[in-house]
Formats: sequence, structure tokens, C-alpha cells
Amino acid sequence: MSMNDAELQSALRTVKDPDLGKDLVTLGMVRGATMEGQRAVIDIELTTPACPMKDAIRSDIERAIAERARSIGSIAPSVEVRFTAQVRSAARSSQGGGNPLPQVKHVIAVGAGKGGVGKSTISVNLAVGLARMGASVGLLDGDIYGPSAPTMLGLDDLQGAVRGEFLVPFAVHGIEAITIGKLVDPDKALIWRGPMAHGAFKQLALQTEWGALDYLIVDLPPGTGDVPLTLAQLLPLTGAVVVCTPQRVAQDDARRAVRMFQQLHIPVLGVVENMSAFTDDDGTVHDLFGRGGAEVMASTMGLPFLGALPIHVELRRNCDAGTPLKNWSGTPALAAALDGICQRVASQVSIESHGHGLMQPTLSVKD
Ligand code: ADP
Repeated sequence: MSMNDAELQSALRTVKDPDLGKDLVTLGMVRGATMEGQRAVIDIELTTPACPMKDAIRSDIERAIAERARSIGSIAPSVEVRFTAQVRSAARSSQGGGNPLPQVKHVIAVGAGKGGVGKSTISVNLAVGLARMGASVGLLDGDIYGPSAPTMLGLDDLQGAVRGEFLVPFAVHGIEAITIGKLVDPDKALIWRGPMAHGAFKQLALQTEWGALDYLIVDLPPGTGDVPLTLAQLLPLTGAVVVCTPQRVAQDDARRAVRMFQQLHIPVLGVVENMSAFTDDDGTVHDLFGRGGAEVMASTMGLPFLGALPIHVELRRNCDAGTPLKNWSGTPALAAALDGICQRVASQVSIESHGHGLMQPTLSVKD
């Protein structure tokens, strides 16, 4: 007997997505599986363009097809695996009911127990990094008390635009972005009473003309104030990322942020350790704030660890200059650290949505 399309399907039923723990056929990830002469052509649709598991999935598919061929006494065909990606949205609604942003597949909050730990840095680079990998991404600078996006995205010379009742987001560095920092006098202290903070955030989130987005990253104000509560009531959140530095005091604050998200029934996607170490020009590593503390905290709280971002002068420079894409064209270790964080966040989003009934695309597999 020789390999045919049905045998390929059987082989693919034995290959599991490493993150989602189910087989590729059940997950609806097989978009095509056909024999073309002596060649098996397999089209796999990943749940995110930031999938870190491509190579593992490819070799598992090759192995499964070879095994299937052997079991039916056929010669193993050569295998070509082609990848596409389609971020799937989970059918969710906000805690207030409904979903005012149906064109956005995943809203991801980025929070921290206190200011200055790099929450905005992570938000900006997560947004830009996911977009570099092929996702459509928006950034909502929801840190209404201290917006960083104007500087970090270099928006100073850009003019905001309004269409009807909607703010037009800035199209910069491959993402869409909006920030209160472009709507108010940048030198005035942003003092908001509770209801005003609620109103300002609500307006930014809902009265922005967001396009069709795979991920909307929301940079929250530090601490455990009103805005996260507003966010949870307004938008269906896939989850929150908590940023923390390695010191003990930062972990205590981060733990409080984690508990806040949990109390608001927002799934915590995991913890990022920022400023974890510094490597000087001689290659000597200095643990200025310690190292590994956030990973330990994540594991004791039963949360995924999403990666560590060391202190890089280049990163700080690019943040200040509003040139985030340069983080990928300088030191390879910096680009790799950022990519790793983006991939782990995207994986956790897929895992989290899968648990909540990831919407299945229709299958178009010929048998
Ligand atoms: P937060 O949003 O938590 O208040 P920011 O993201 O604004 O913190 O970061 C505070 C400052 O620290 C910024 O100037 C930023 O450029 C810098 N910074 C953050 N993370 C790093 C890092 N890993 N390496 C170097 N500088 C960093």
C-alpha cells in the first residue's frame, strides 16, 4: 500500500501541538494534506505568527509521516510543511457584558506593582515585536497618569487626527497606537479623580478607530488603582502580563498586582523579569538588582515565566529616541530576549483562549 491523503491525515492525528496538547487535526490546524507524487505537502495554520514551536511541529510531522508509511509498508515520502498563521479569537465578553471591540481578537493588559520597573518598555516592545512577526497589533497607552508612548514611539512631531467622534490611532513602527499624552498638555501633571480616570480610559479604549487587530496591548498605570477595574468591565481581556524587577520589594508589589488581576477574574498570562542583569563591555555580568527573583515568584504563584530582559543601554537609548525597531537591528542578544518574550506571551494567549473555547476555523482538508 502506498501513502495517500487519508494516511497523511491519520499520521497528523498523532502529532500534538506542544502548547495546546491536542492533535493538529482536532485543533483544526491542518489546512491541507496531500500527496503530490512522492511528496507529502502539508499546510499548517498556526494559532499565532509568533509561534515558537514551528521547528518542533515540523519535525514531529516528518516523524509521524515516516512512521505511518513504515506501518503500512510504504516508502516514506519526502515532506514539505508550509506554515501560515491565523490568530483565533476566543468567544468572550467583558465583565460588564458584551464586546465593544469585536474587531480585536485579544486584549492583553500589561501591569506592574509599581512604577519604573519597565512596564511601558515591555508594552511597547511586545507590541512592536509581535507586529514584526506578522501580527496586527495595537497599543493603548492606558497609563493615563504618566503616558510614555509619545516618547517611546517618537510621536512628538506627529499630529493627532479625529474622524467623526473617533480618534485615529497613530500608525508607527508597524503598529497602531493611541495615548492620552497626545491629547493633553504634556507638561501639565495628569491628575484625575476616580470617575475622570475611568472616563478618560474608556474614551481612549472605545473611541479609537482601531483596525482589525490580532492583539491590543494595554499599558496600564502602575499599582492597583481604578483603571484595571475599568478595563475589566469594558473589554473582554484574554489576560494580563505582570512586569517585575528581580528585587524582593518589587516582587512583593508584583504579587499584589497578580492578586488584583485574579480578583478581577483576569487570567494572568505570566510574569516578565525586567532589568535582570547587566553585561558590561568586557562581558562581565552584573546582577544589579539580583537575578531570577521574578521566575521564582512566578513559579511559587503557579504562573508561567515569560522571560527575562536584561539591562541594555541600547534599549534605554531606543526608548528615549522613540525608535523601538532598532532594538532588533543592534545587539542580537537584545533582539533574542525580546522575541522570546513575544513568543511566550503569544503562546500563553493561544493556551488561554483554547481553554475558553478557541473558535475553530472550518476545515478545508481533502480526504
Ligand atoms: P514603567 O512603565 O514601569 O514606569 P518604563 O518602561 O517607563 O517603566 O521604564 C523606566 C525607564 O527605564 C525608561 O527610561 C526605560 O527606557 C528604562 N528601562 C526599562 N527597562 C530597561 C532595560 N531592560 N534596560 C535599560 N533600560 C530600561
